[in-house]
Amino acid sequence: MRLFALALCLLAPLAAQAHEDAPPPPATASVTRQFNHLPYGEADAAALLPVPSLPGCTLAREAVPDLERLLLAARAEGIELGTASCFRSVAYQRRVFCAGAGDCDRVAGLRARFVAPPGYSEHATGYAIDFVQRGGDCRAVEQCFFLTPGGQWLMRHAPEFGFELSFPAGNKQGVGWEPWHWRWVGAPAARTRFASAQASFPALPAVPQMKTAAGHEVRPPSLETAPGGGNYAVSTSRWGAAILLASSATLRP
Ligand SMILES: [Zn+2]
Repeated sequence: MRLFALALCLLAPLAAQAHEDAPPPPATASVTRQFNHLPYGEADAAALLPVPSLPGCTLAREAVPDLERLLLAARAEGIELGTASCFRSVAYQRRVFCAGAGDCDRVAGLRARFVAPPGYSEHATGYAIDFVQRGGDCRAVEQCFFLTPGGQWLMRHAPEFGFELSFPAGNKQGVGWEPWHWRWVGAPAARTRFASAQASFPALPAVPQMKTAAGHEVRPPSLETAPGGGNYAVSTSRWGAAILLASSATLRP
């Protein structure tokens, strides 16, 4: 309960940050978004497969071999990656989205900054995964993941295994920066699922830096060059820290 109260205290700067660093683009006529998230239907259960190396993780059957190869390649370099979330049903997404919220509808806009509403999550497709760094002090689904060895390794190598970062810093879709959330686009069926997102909201960041709630540009301590160009920034502002705490407190079911 105390954690949730803390989250509520932090939601005000979260709203300010959302306004400052990623103004949502106008919705296109062809795509109906909810709080900037695109609609995704639920994968057929027969199309899903448990990932042998990640107990409890289920993904689209054709994505599993590439994920296993990715985990093996990371381990060969001493990087131990785990997962916080893989396939999520629409029903489960509803529980995640409303977890801890007394009035889910009232805070929906703020929660949607870092978690998709039910029916609008890439996790429902079976192609998206939230990675975690095992053994570190960065908790799951926090932006500090970017600075962990696993986060840095994924930025360099995940595309070699068919994965792309769905929500980079400053993404044009207007969703919060999620360095842990990757979607697999290694086959035509997967690319079809994300065609709208790729066409309307390219995965490369729209802006190279983040801004504080007061509008000051933050000089990040680390910049990573993305494959194909563009930089990913790390926020050092206290509002950035507030976002980490708020997302952590509100995302965990
Ligand atoms: Zn995710």
